[in-house]
Amino acid sequence: MLRQAEGRHMLPGGAMVPRLFRLADRRQDTADTFTMMLEPTDGVPLEFIPGQFTMMSAFGIGEVPISVSSPAKVEGPLQHTVRDVGSVTHALARTQIGDVVGIRGPYGTGWDVEDGAGADVVLVAGGIGLAPLRPAMLDVLRHRQRYGRVVLLYGTRTPEDLLFTDELKRWENLGVEVLVTVDYGTPSWTGRVGLVTTLIARAGFDPRSALALVCGPEVMMRFTAMALIKRGLSPDRVRVSLERNMRCGVGLCGHCQYRELFVCLDGPVLPYARVAGLIGVREL
Ligand SMILES: Cc1cc2nc3c(=O)[nH]c(=O)nc-3n(C[C@H](O)[C@H](O)[C@H](O)COP(=O)(O)OP(=O)(O)OC[C@H]3O[C@@H](n4cnc5c(N)ncnc54)[C@H](O)[C@@H]3O)c2cc1C
Repeated sequence: MLRQAEGRHMLPGGAMVPRLFRLADRRQDTADTFTMMLEPTDGVPLEFIPGQFTMMSAFGIGEVPISVSSPAKVEGPLQHTVRDVGSVTHALARTQIGDVVGIRGPYGTGWDVEDGAGADVVLVAGGIGLAPLRPAMLDVLRHRQRYGRVVLLYGTRTPEDLLFTDELKRWENLGVEVLVTVDYGTPSWTGRVGLVTTLIARAGFDPRSALALVCGPEVMMRFTAMALIKRGLSPDRVRVSLERNMRCGVGLCGHCQYRELFVCLDGPVLPYARVAGLIGVREL
């Protein structure tokens, strides 16, 4: 089992050394979530594929895996959308324009959304899971003619937790079927209330060929994958992005190991068929 990963451990020198990125701009998306726009201090843009993550460091505090939320192969700052949940993300939340953070990577597998060419593409996001899916959506929209119907099913706990609301409207105007739901409505909320899985039966896509990309809390991904399969998708055509505690990001420390899988190397994006028995299982 380990042999499979060993070859990939032969990393080029410097794989653990962060590059320096300066905070060029910052947007507060919700009460606890913000997007950092980062410019490399050496002027060399970070190349990545949609779905990959970097290890972000707040110097003196620690390092955490965060997915890239900006479009790939497009000029502009590197974007990371971060939820302030603990010590490192809180330190990142306190950075000011001009401050420098460390970035290692990019690491991991991507959504490989081009496998959906000629078919319908369904993106299902729960909460901050929309951030890692954003580069995939922007890639689909850049090559719109390659795909059939494009559907986004998005659920958050409350209306205040919805991310990228301006973009949701823009995507809808570009022909994406955008269905949004919240777990708990507010008096001013006129939209749907209920779990994101309730949207699967309503959405217009052909399950015989569709490619589904799912990102959110593990329990949400599990029930979403099961509902998509029930609707007719093949488990091979459902991809999920796993979130596990990580330290090195390069398959050395074993923190993110899930039986034979290293989430940092083999994932985070994996076909549901490969992880069906693992997700939803609590980490020790
Ligand atoms: C591949 C990958 C991609 C990720 N992408 C993103 C991303 O794009 N944006 C983002 O905000 N996060 C992302 N995460 C999660 C992020 O890495 C964690 O939230 C972060 O490591 C927390 O570190 P901390 O030091 O701030 O919190 P800690 O001090 O480690 O944790 C403090 C408390 O928060 C709890 N906690 C930790 N993580 C979470 C969580 N995710 N949700 C709720 N509670 C939590 C802990 O259980 C603990 O009680 C990703 C994780 C992985 C593995």
